[in-house]
Amino acid sequence: MATAMQRQLMMERHIQARGITDPRVLEAMESVPREEFLPPELGEFAYSDQALPIEAGQTISQPYIVALMADEAQVKPEDTVLEIGTGSGYAAAVFAKIAARVFTIERHAELADVARERLARLGYHNVEVRCGDGTLGWSEHAPFDAIIVAAGGPDVPRALLDQLAIGGRLVIPIGASHAQDLVRVTRRSETDFHQEDLGAVRFVPLIGEQGWGEPAFDNARTKPLVRAEKRESRPSLISRLISECAEPITGIEDASIDGLIERIGDAHVVLLGEATHGTSEFYRMRMRITQELIRRRGFRGVAVEADWPDASVIDRYVRGKPPRTRTWVPFSRFPTWMWRNREIDTLLEWMRAHNAETEAPEKKVSFSGLDFYSLFTSAYEVVRYLDRVDPTAATAARERYGQLTPWQDDPAAYGRAALVGKMKDCEEDVVAMLRDLLAKRIDYVAHDGDEFFDAAQNARVVAGAERYYRVMYYGGADSWNLRDQHMFDTLKLILSHRGPDAKIVVWEHNSHIGDASATEMSARGEHNIGQLCRAAFRDDMYNVGFGTDHGTVAAAHDWDGPMERMSVRPARSDSYERLCHDSEVPAFMLHLRNPSRDELRDELFSPRLERAIGVVYRPDTELQSHYFQAVLPAQFDEYVWFDETEAVNPLPFAAEAVRPLEHPFAA
Ligand code: SAM
Repeated sequence: MATAMQRQLMMERHIQARGITDPRVLEAMESVPREEFLPPELGEFAYSDQALPIEAGQTISQPYIVALMADEAQVKPEDTVLEIGTGSGYAAAVFAKIAARVFTIERHAELADVARERLARLGYHNVEVRCGDGTLGWSEHAPFDAIIVAAGGPDVPRALLDQLAIGGRLVIPIGASHAQDLVRVTRRSETDFHQEDLGAVRFVPLIGEQGWGEPAFDNARTKPLVRAEKRESRPSLISRLISECAEPITGIEDASIDGLIERIGDAHVVLLGEATHGTSEFYRMRMRITQELIRRRGFRGVAVEADWPDASVIDRYVRGKPPRTRTWVPFSRFPTWMWRNREIDTLLEWMRAHNAETEAPEKKVSFSGLDFYSLFTSAYEVVRYLDRVDPTAATAARERYGQLTPWQDDPAAYGRAALVGKMKDCEEDVVAMLRDLLAKRIDYVAHDGDEFFDAAQNARVVAGAERYYRVMYYGGADSWNLRDQHMFDTLKLILSHRGPDAKIVVWEHNSHIGDASATEMSARGEHNIGQLCRAAFRDDMYNVGFGTDHGTVAAAHDWDGPMERMSVRPARSDSYERLCHDSEVPAFMLHLRNPSRDELRDELFSPRLERAIGVVYRPDTELQSHYFQAVLPAQFDEYVWFDETEAVNPLPFAAEAVRPLEHPFAA
């Protein structure tokens, strides 16, 4: 009963309300039981309009997108349809309800087998499933009246055009591997193809002879695919090459880093990583590099993996602006040690002193947060800003954001309540708030440009976080991608706010700043700020990964648990870390983009394990919890190594200073 109601709601809210009117499509969407195509534990989300994870690291399509594709492909009862990317078989079932015959191809045998059995069991007897490369089509059954491709390719595969009937329609997402445009190609004659753009979409990549190349890693297989033919790498040779190419770091504060600064050259964006969220050496070395970039290369901002409003408090401090009264304490939420530590304190004092000696305000170095876990403090800051500049708008903001108040202590619970239909989601309101704020930009900027920028970014954070907490329940790539896209967009806004030549240094974990397309993340459909920066800025960015073998780290055993100083286990023998350890150089910088010896890059190109420790460290399940496959020289331009490291030094703060947030929307 609940399912029938949820299905009805989905039809009304997400299919009909968004302009799908073809009665055949509506009927098909209403009759196919999506829960049957999902892993049982995700059944309750079957009628929320989202792509969801299925086997082999793939996704079941979002219902609206299935309806849209059927609609745009103008599928009719007498049609023969070819679908590329069977996945769960859900979309094929929808098409089979409308058309005479459906042929569907899936590259993963595991998925094809499950979908074939499932479709037969559910009575979709006009569907034939094949395992293979769909970019080559299915010539035995061509021509097709409609071809629908459920994965994004670089271009329209020639074979599919050839197999389209005259008058037939082909709908396919094309463009960069992480963001595409949906296009419809109509074959008007033997040689005349008409292409129309249907808008932006996001699909997993179409991998095949006439699509993208095989990914470096494929979750459905256990072995890395890159250079599979290559002979076994020779660890001792690689370690020797590392020791020959490495530039040793003798002491963090006084090592010569001229080579690195030279290699960074005129890049406007430098991304500095870390292999854990709690290693002193990583903070100190990033500080050293940052100081040199500010002094010698005119960098004007530091942007970190922290919440915007918290970093904004610090920004006022380092730029010598008077503090604003507020009722919350920055960096008082888990994991407090990540930014509230002695190493960061040293950086902030240095930045403050540097800025004090810098007269021109536009040259003072800013400190910003790229993250968006601050739904409530950001909402609070928007309301407080409007109180200062536009009290009438502040009243509207209180009303709009006020709906989120009951979820203040547990925003994730808000996402769940909105998803399961226990409450109406607040998307419209938080987006409208941002839109209204931006519409009055000229008036507000007249008060103070920096203040407006801060408030507008807080409104963006609220909008982004509201969405994030709704999509995180699906556990797929979407929530990760949403967060990294937000961080990338924020970086671009900071760059443009700080002026046309602004240069910014970014501090985030390796998993964000390393290019995700060179790691197993790409097979899960995840991208990150490193990959987005590389695509957008090319050689105008430089990213530096950091690694360690053993020592201690500040981390918690569980999310929200207390910080502990934990021992880091020596790295596994099949990891990049072990190669670095075996070089016997205790600390070094290693140029990977264009190393002094090509052989080094070649040898390192064989994929290996790499370790990522976050705010949680679980040494007992280290392999499953912390190692992932990567191609190091494709991931980073440079790698900084500290064989033995120590935990970062947290700064104490009085717990009583952390009062609960004053009702943020109170007048
Ligand atoms: N429509 C499917 C559903 O409703 O479950 C979901 C499709 S999923 C978004 C895309 C699928 O395309 C994945 O299962 C992926 O393995 C598959 N795929 C990617 N490239 C392919 C290719 N060249 N040939 C066949 N399938 C491909």
